Amino acid sequence: METKILRPFTQGASNASHGVPLAPNNIFIQLNRICRHPSSSGMLGISLFYYFVFMQTDPFSFCPSCKSDAFTLDNNRYHCEHCDFTFFINAATAAAGILIHDGQLLFTVRAKNPGKGKLGLPGGFVDCTESLEQAMQRETEEELGIKVTQWQYLMSSPNVYDYANVRYHTCDAFFVAYLNAKPLFSLQEAEIAGVTWLKPEQINFNDIAFESMRQAVRKVIEQ
Ligand SMILES: [Zn+2]
Repeated sequence: METKILRPFTQGASNASHGVPLAPNNIFIQLNRICRHPSSSGMLGISLFYYFVFMQTDPFSFCPSCKSDAFTLDNNRYHCEHCDFTFFINAATAAAGILIHDGQLLFTVRAKNPGKGKLGLPGGFVDCTESLEQAMQRETEEELGIKVTQWQYLMSSPNVYDYANVRYHTCDAFFVAYLNAKPLFSLQEAEIAGVTWLKPEQINFNDIAFESMRQAVRKVIEQ
């Protein structure tokens, strides 16, 4: 039997494999910014127009099995009326980590949207052949240029990630690691604009890019 490689996301997926951090819904970030703008009502209208016209919450046009266009989305699954194939929309797995040294937490500054300029954490999408732990180690090396082998699982949270006009539903797994010293970083400039160590009382949670990250940071602080 022929095995077909499913490429359901016709745009965005191939570009989103490495180093694209965890994420929620950048439309809400945009709306938050726009609502503080003096001419917010007009900008809000433009933003909502953009959201409904361009955001691909239904990005598939053709059945990946038989290529029919009789391929429709209902809740979390696509169904092909031509060949009866069903494609389930499952969460994309992602991992991110909180590094702690002497009571300070390491945050990255995101170089890209969604959440450009906001605080993030090292991490990204899990590759098809990786474990969460392997993805965490790979992303740490890629983004920060350091090897961290003592990542401990913290928690997970569902999330929504809007990237290149395509919506991804993710399941974000968070890890934590305690360091004896502050390492020297070699930052992946395309993804990370900078890093900052913050004590819990210095953290403004509104500066953190995504709700799933806020939850993880709160949890590790409260432990
Ligand atoms: Zn089909």
